[in-house]
Amino acid sequence: MAHRSPVVFKVDAVNEKEIPAGVGTGRPAAGRATNGVDAIDASPGGALLGVAPGQPGGPGEPAAGLSGIGRALAILGDRWVLLILQRAFLLHVRTFAGWRDQLGISESVLASRLKELVRYGIFEQKAYRDGRTRLEYRLTEAGLKLWSFLVAVHSWERDWADRPDLLTLMHDRCRHDARPYLACGACRKPMTARDTHTVRGPLATFSRVGLPRQHRRTTARGDVRTDYVGYCPLSMEILGDRWSTSVLAGAFLGVRRFVDFQSELGIAPSVLTDRLKRFVELGVLQADAGRHYRLTDRGLAYFEVFAFLVHWGQRELPGPPGSDLDITHKPCGSPLSPVLLCRHCHEVLERREVRFDLSAYPHLA
Ligand SMILES: [Zn+2]
Ligand SMILES: [Zn+2]
Repeated sequence: MAHRSPVVFKVDAVNEKEIPAGVGTGRPAAGRATNGVDAIDASPGGALLGVAPGQPGGPGEPAAGLSGIGRALAILGDRWVLLILQRAFLLHVRTFAGWRDQLGISESVLASRLKELVRYGIFEQKAYRDGRTRLEYRLTEAGLKLWSFLVAVHSWERDWADRPDLLTLMHDRCRHDARPYLACGACRKPMTARDTHTVRGPLATFSRVGLPRQHRRTTARGDVRTDYVGYCPLSMEILGDRWSTSVLAGAFLGVRRFVDFQSELGIAPSVLTDRLKRFVELGVLQADAGRHYRLTDRGLAYFEVFAFLVHWGQRELPGPPGSDLDITHKPCGSPLSPVLLCRHCHEVLERREVRFDLSAYPHLA
C-alpha cells in the first residue's frame, strides 16, 4: 500500500509561488487518495478542502479560497439549508412566510440561510405582485441541479436507515417506484465508492470548511420537530453541520486515524471526538482498537450522496485551480459524472420525469 506523499500545501501557508507548474493544465500532480476502501493507511501531512484564505475570491466573499467541494459543504452542510431546499423542491415553497410556517424556523435563522443561499447562487430573488410587490426566492439553474443530490439523500435514507415510510419517488416514464441507484453517466454501470478512485489536487484541502459557523451551535440533535413529509434524520445528522460533513468527506478520501482527521480538517479534538463517536453510533463508521475509523457498508453507501455533492460543488462553485478532487470511475476510466437510474426500468432519472408521491398527504399535494 503506497503512502500518499505528504501534502506540502498546508492551509494558511499557500501562496502563488508554491503552486507547482502544471496546476490547472491537466491532472493534478500530487495527493492520491482512494475512496474509502483500500487507503487504510493514509498519512496526510496537510489539510484537505480549503485553499489558503485571501487567494481568489478575497476576504468577505462566501467561502473565499475554498475548493468547490469545500464551498458545497460550507453551504449545504446545514440542517436548515437542507430542509429549506427540500421544501422548495418538494412543495415549491418560494416565500419567506412559506418556509417559516412549514419548518417552524425562527425568522432570523431563516433570513440568514436565505441570504446565504442567494449569495451562493442557489436561489435568486424575484419580485412579484400580490396586491403589493413581494419578493420570492426561486431556484436558479445551479440550484435546480441539486435535485439529484436531494434525491440521493432521500434514497440512501430509505435504503439504509430503515425508513420504508418515506415518500415514494415515482418515475413517470415507467410509472413505477424509482428506488434510484447511483450509476456512472458515461458507461451507465452502477457505481460505488469501491470502484472509483480519487486524485486530490495539490491544493485540495478541507480546513476552514467548519469555520464560518463555528461560533454557532449548528448540530441540533433531538430538537427537530417531527417532519412527516420527508425528514431524513440520519442524513440530517451526517450532513447537518459542516464538521460532520467534513469528517465524512475525509473518510471517503481515505483518512482513517484520529490525528489525521484532526490535521486535515483543522478541527478541535473535542469536536472531532464527538463527531466520530456519533458516526460510530449511527453505524456509518467503525473504530478499531488503534483508533482507526473506517466506513461501514452503510457509510460506504453514502458515496451516492457524496458523489453528487462533489460533482455539483466542483461545477457550480469552482475553487482555485488545483483544488479539485479528480474522481474516476475505474471500470470505464471516465471522470465522475453521477446519475441516478430507475431500479425498475434502468433508465436515467431526469428531474422533470420524477415526482414524490404525496397522495398520503392530500393537503400538501
Ligand atoms: Zn463508468
Ligand atoms: Zn423507471
